[in-house]
Amino acid sequence: MKSPDAAIKQFGNTITAADLKKQLYIVAGPGMEGRETGTAGQRKAADYIRDQFKAFGLQPGANGEWFQYYSLFQDVLESSQINIGGTNYEFAKDFYASLKDSKSESLTVNNTVLAGYADKPLQGNYKGKAVVFLQDAPQPGMRRRMNPVDQVKDVVKDAKVVMFVMNNSSMANISRIADRLKRSGLYMGQADEQESQNVYFISETMAAAIFGQAAFDTYKASPKESLKSLESKTPLEIELKKKTDETKSSNVLGYLEGTDKKDEIVFITAHYDHLGTHDGQIYYGADDDGSGTVSVIEMAQAFTEAKKAGHGPRRSMVFMTVSGEEKGLLGSRYYTEHPIYPLEKTVVDLNIDMVGRVDPAKVADTNYIYIIGDDKLSSELRPISEAANKITNLELDYKYNDPNDPNRFYYRSDHYMFAQHNIPIIFYFNGVHEDYHKPTDTVDKIHYELMAKRAQLVFYTAWEIANREDKLPVDRHEK
Ligand SMILES: [Zn+2]
Repeated sequence: MKSPDAAIKQFGNTITAADLKKQLYIVAGPGMEGRETGTAGQRKAADYIRDQFKAFGLQPGANGEWFQYYSLFQDVLESSQINIGGTNYEFAKDFYASLKDSKSESLTVNNTVLAGYADKPLQGNYKGKAVVFLQDAPQPGMRRRMNPVDQVKDVVKDAKVVMFVMNNSSMANISRIADRLKRSGLYMGQADEQESQNVYFISETMAAAIFGQAAFDTYKASPKESLKSLESKTPLEIELKKKTDETKSSNVLGYLEGTDKKDEIVFITAHYDHLGTHDGQIYYGADDDGSGTVSVIEMAQAFTEAKKAGHGPRRSMVFMTVSGEEKGLLGSRYYTEHPIYPLEKTVVDLNIDMVGRVDPAKVADTNYIYIIGDDKLSSELRPISEAANKITNLELDYKYNDPNDPNRFYYRSDHYMFAQHNIPIIFYFNGVHEDYHKPTDTVDKIHYELMAKRAQLVFYTAWEIANREDKLPVDRHEK
């Protein structure tokens, strides 16, 4: 009879460079169209992952189904214009508004007030009026400026409409991003019925049309401290019409039942969505996160093979690939807010996001992986991870685990949603590179041997957590 150690290695070694490569050429191939959430490419990828899980002998992991569906919404502009004293101005040319934050409206205002600068708004009675604010030009070296809407919100409560004047040079570029302005990003959960007034960002030309060119020029040239409000009776007719489209996306869950501790669950995750196809170019996302997706697929196979050979895990395992990551960790957020397995019984989430490439800073010795978040919630996770690495012998680089690191990678992938619920996590990551989020993140640039080693590290770590006597403790609280 083999020692348990030998058994572990026998199954760890089924995760090979050749198998990962075969999988990745499909998952990050042209047929998947860049896997953008809410598109046909994403759905094809989901079907493919399900078919793999099924073929290995996993069970559907989402209450008897393979997919956990969730709804996503997107606001689309139907029409919008502002008429100032008989002249029409166009959306995404002369002005814009955030569609998600705006409501459909059609109204006339006969009283408009220019009320100083956004960072020093003038008080006044603005009931039923449109209130317009100037903004300082951003200073070189200044951090992103404060949201002007927040700066004036106490002053404009009764106003019918709020407007900010954008300088002509920033307005000159907006027609280039018209498509993005006329369509909001995908968001989860129906937006609340908008109660506050709409906010429009208008050109200096429009402001001059409201207040008169000379008066507006004088106002702009006056010292900020001595400004008083300036009124106009020029009628404004404002119209904005939008609709909200709904689309569905899914997380894919495969379940492997444990033995004597089957109520406790070990999660292994990666996001299978990427950026899609734009202007005829496919964003393949081979590293981001095709690499994590195929690692999860190969690990699912290794653990099911082990179980068939009589070495099934004591705890149950869920192999979950999520969508919506590139849109703001939506799929993992949905899962952790609508968990299928009790979160208090969820022992760990090992999340893999980009493990196939090499950080330019690491070319001298590529035998590494960045480990993030492993010491934040459980004191025993790092020792387990380091012991597992005795087999794989990678350099475990904790550089990005530093809470002061400006990249803040800890907050930037799906494990973070689990950590928010007090579930210990490890985030496996190779760092960014020149092809990050570009169409050139392709399968030919992946280091398959290295990726296999990294996936094996996750496998051995998961094996120990799934099989050890004691549940991984949650004894630290660094979120
Ligand atoms: Zn990613």
